[in-house]
Amino acid sequence: MVKPAVDEGSRDNDATPVVMKFGGSSVADLTRLRAVAKRVSERAKSCPVVVVVSAMGKTTNNIVAMARELMDPPPARELDMLLSTGERNAMALLAIAIHACGQRAISLTGSQCGIITDHQPGRARIIEVRPFRILDEIAAGHIVIVGGFQGVSYKREVTTLGRGGSDTSAVALAAALGADCEIYSDVDGVYSADPRDVPEARRIDELDYEQAQALSRAGAKVLHAQAVQLAEERSIAIYARHSNPAIQGQTVIRRNPVPRPTGVLAIASDPDIASVQIIAPDSGALVERLMVELAGNLGLRYLTIDPFGARGLLSCSQQTNAEEVLSALQARASEHGLPKVQVQRERAVVSCVGAGLEERSDLLARAVSILGRANISVFEIHSDARTLAFVIPASRRTQAVRILHSELVKSQGS
Ligand code: ADP
Ligand code: ASP
Ligand code: MG
Repeated sequence: MVKPAVDEGSRDNDATPVVMKFGGSSVADLTRLRAVAKRVSERAKSCPVVVVVSAMGKTTNNIVAMARELMDPPPARELDMLLSTGERNAMALLAIAIHACGQRAISLTGSQCGIITDHQPGRARIIEVRPFRILDEIAAGHIVIVGGFQGVSYKREVTTLGRGGSDTSAVALAAALGADCEIYSDVDGVYSADPRDVPEARRIDELDYEQAQALSRAGAKVLHAQAVQLAEERSIAIYARHSNPAIQGQTVIRRNPVPRPTGVLAIASDPDIASVQIIAPDSGALVERLMVELAGNLGLRYLTIDPFGARGLLSCSQQTNAEEVLSALQARASEHGLPKVQVQRERAVVSCVGAGLEERSDLLARAVSILGRANISVFEIHSDARTLAFVIPASRRTQAVRILHSELVKSQGS
């Protein structure tokens, strides 16, 4: 077979690089992977390119299911090691496809790229990026392909960053390289609701970091929440685009976009929530300490403490090791002599995300009445300046998203 000639065009290897991240759907099969290779190869003719890639298609789901067949929950360390292989597979295949396009590429794991994390298996946070190897490879004229969603902990274990975490790898690398961050997926930006749930949802052209983060935390998986937080800390603009170059729209996430009126900008939802309650009347500081510790270590959100105990919500869709978290919670509670832990599954959280919501009690009242009219039970309500969140039965999630979108988002003409 004839080896293709290397065509670097007019690339200046000292120019500012760009980070392009392609998610699982963009590389779901070899045809799509080749299309990404072609696009990256063209871009690399004008500037250095670092590509962050996710596991192909549903690979991550499939390998989690395999592990669970063997043991449920699987040991967290081994699960992280296994999960990291999905991205390794994709990165090497993409590098090979780029070679086939006549460019030089090299694939690197998160650990080889100096992505250092803390030691929380399944939901590690990036502490530092030491991009020396990437800089060396750029200087050597390579397109660098990085396996997303993974790093290495200070204990030298392979870690993963939580579901959807390749976005965070991309932002972290962009920050370390002083690069722009472009996130490509199967949708051309952030919409006023998941277009799969609400076909008439509209693209939001510009978002500030706080709104984007509130949306991601509420379950809009188009961007990973940690990625947006990191982008804000490091003042990195994120461009969310479609991986098909024929689809031209985008959402830019940056500081101070065009100011918006107060109100609901978008509806997001998290389909798989466990509502956790520790029943411990009059145990005061003990429950408080335990819940705060659990919230930090295990990822519980919307913590509430009252004289009867404490409660919080765990997102099973955003965390790969939610089952293990729940067992750890049971174990920690009984260690402290608090045996009554109740876990309610089959809950969803539907959130209205916007600006100035703390001044708009009318919107909270309207949302409650909209859900009430549809006979959707609301188990809990949590609100702050950017989010009105409703815990409801998981089976009613799509309907709740649709009616809240049609009555609260569309009516404002935003
Ligand atoms: P990737 O695999 O490229 O990381 P994801 O599946 O993580 O892509 O994210 C893209 C998906 O996010 C879209 O297919 C869409 O269904 C979903 N999504 C959820 N909420 C939103 C939203 N508000 N705007 C756009 N897409 C959304
Ligand atoms: N492959 C991982 C997941 O499916 C990470 C990512 O796609 O960003 O969650
Ligand atoms: Mg994603």
